[in-house]
Amino acid sequence: MSRKNIVAGNWKMNKTLQEGVALAKDLKSALAGKTLNCEVIIGTPFIHLASVAAEIAGSKIALSAQNSANKESGAYTGEVSPAQVKSTGADFVILGHSERRAYYGETFDILKEKVLLALKNDLKPIFCIGELKEEREAGKQNEVVKAQLEGSVFNLSAEDFGKIVLAYEPVWAIGTGLTATSDQAQEIHAYIRSLVAAKYGAQVADDTTILYGGSCNAKNAKELFGKADVDGGLIGGASLKAEDFVGVIEGFN
Ligand code: PEP
Repeated sequence: MSRKNIVAGNWKMNKTLQEGVALAKDLKSALAGKTLNCEVIIGTPFIHLASVAAEIAGSKIALSAQNSANKESGAYTGEVSPAQVKSTGADFVILGHSERRAYYGETFDILKEKVLLALKNDLKPIFCIGELKEEREAGKQNEVVKAQLEGSVFNLSAEDFGKIVLAYEPVWAIGTGLTATSDQAQEIHAYIRSLVAAKYGAQVADDTTILYGGSCNAKNAKELFGKADVDGGLIGGASLKAEDFVGVIEGFN
């Protein structure tokens, strides 16, 4: 994949099936007449995927899961495999979100397995990295994101790495209303891109899409997306209403 502008929504554990399908329908009609300067992805709970895929068929919206298992199939009660996700019509999967790392014990090694298996099943990972508040306060953000990349995705071949999207999400900015300034975002996005260049070369780095996530909304999107190394956003709270999400998408206009 070459570098793209992307706005991706992460609904997290919100919306009943009926509410989710209604939101997808609202978003589809809100975007229908618009010229978009970015790709639009919605990341829904597993239970919504097939119904939302049917709702957005033929539209400009692509579909993502928010997780997928590190196992192919079998006796893993409650898990959902990448092949199952793919069979719903989804093309992306969010992996490494800080909530999954913090609450569900997803380690670098588990995430490495999840990324590999997602790619094997033709799902494109949106791979999240980012530091905690105390790590930022201690000036350790660069070493944290470097370790996260080295721990879970720098094992990939250049060809496979080219299929993933990175999302830098400072944990202190997620759902808190605190946004990284556009200069803070640019600084660390440029650093992340330099790490990709050192590992895979300048061309792969230039082609890598790096999203910002953390209280991004219709008010701050334009300034963030205007930065050279910020290629769009991963959006939580502001993806839960069509109007708010469209406002973020319009940050590219
Ligand atoms: C997220 O969870 O990926 C996120 C960025 O959430 P929010 O936009 O609500 O901060």
